[in-house]
Amino acid sequence: MLRLPAFEYRSARTVAEALELLGEFGGSSVDKTPEAQVMLMAGGTDVLPNMKERIFALQRVVGLHGVASLRGVSVDPEHGARLGPNTTLHEIANAPDIRARYQALAEAASVIATPQIRAQGTLGGNLCLDTRCNYYNQSALWRKARDYCLKKGSDVCRVAPNGAGCYAVSSCDTAPALIALGATVRIASRKGERELSVADLYSDDGIRPVHLHDGEVLTDVLLPALEGDWRSTYVKYRVRGAFDFPIASVAVAALFDGDECLEARVVAQAVATHPLPLTKVETLLKGKHWTPDLIVEAAEIAYKTVHPMDNTSGTIALRRRMMRASTQRALEAVARPGA
Ligand SMILES: Cc1cc2nc3c(=O)[nH]c(=O)nc-3n(C[C@H](O)[C@H](O)[C@H](O)COP(=O)(O)OP(=O)(O)OC[C@H]3O[C@@H](n4cnc5c(N)ncnc54)[C@H](O)[C@@H]3O)c2cc1C
Ligand code: SF4
Repeated sequence: MLRLPAFEYRSARTVAEALELLGEFGGSSVDKTPEAQVMLMAGGTDVLPNMKERIFALQRVVGLHGVASLRGVSVDPEHGARLGPNTTLHEIANAPDIRARYQALAEAASVIATPQIRAQGTLGGNLCLDTRCNYYNQSALWRKARDYCLKKGSDVCRVAPNGAGCYAVSSCDTAPALIALGATVRIASRKGERELSVADLYSDDGIRPVHLHDGEVLTDVLLPALEGDWRSTYVKYRVRGAFDFPIASVAVAALFDGDECLEARVVAQAVATHPLPLTKVETLLKGKHWTPDLIVEAAEIAYKTVHPMDNTSGTIALRRRMMRASTQRALEAVARPGA
């Protein structure tokens, strides 16, 4: 049985208290490097397993679980939705208003991990999830036997030894759906608040995948009111349907006027260090009637656009083929809702 190392846990009751605790503890709160000593924790479904595997060597953890203001879903058809980052994935997947108006998000939340993890894991924790790699998400013994890698304890990337950084894979299912739906996040620190689009939350650095500064806490996830015939979906490909992380997935949101698509957003996931907008696919689809031939052409562009590294389950060839298949399925579902 894997045991947690000793660490100091302080539970916050308010966002202000969480910010105070981060200030008191000092050091970085968003760092996922070997030196990271302090981290926020919401549901703990990623932080705690990583501590058990000695991937995170944290001395102190600030618990957000008791911060009531970070929970809840409120949807206003005219002004959009506010989701508290502490809202569980189960609640997101089952909220009637989210299922009705922001289908891609509800679908993405519903296919994360297992029912038990969805009951504990949160939206905020999902958005801030660490990137994953076959050479990193392993036991301490396994990693030591291979002399570690750039993301944890060595100066070389085992996947791309001549590359410029870490190419670990962005694996959080809700992020591509939120990007396709045009979501933003509100972030608090002791200096004040700032807002960022979910697309801009992610970096192309597998070691520091989220653009949060030290001492910052995600406080709100905001979705715009989608007026008109917006349709969306999320299609996930994973090795085992029961609980695996994505390895080639796609989120689609599109606005229609009759048969014509006025706007299309297509975002690939788990094929790069960050969610990847497929802009060439979006350009092809905009202003068109989505015929079967057009959908096949769009899926082919998705296949040609993605170039995953060999660092997660499935071969590169399989993941590219599945990106083509996932894109085709997602576009067909959006073109013929309810079919
Ligand atoms: C067996 C297994 C299978 C899984 N499968 C999937 C999967 O298929 N898809 C998937 O996307 N995930 C998967 N996960 C990962 C994880 O369970 C989910 O991503 C979950 O949503 C994480 O939420 P949490 O609240 O538990 O995060 P935590 O573990 O509490 O935190 C995760 C990260 O988010 C940060 N964080 C949390 N809240 C905030 C906040 N408000 N502000 C700033 N930073 C914050 C933490 O500091 C930490 O870095 C799986 C995990 C396991 C153990
Ligand atoms: S991509 Fe390279 S540096 Fe990053 S986790 Fe994998 S092996 Fe390590």
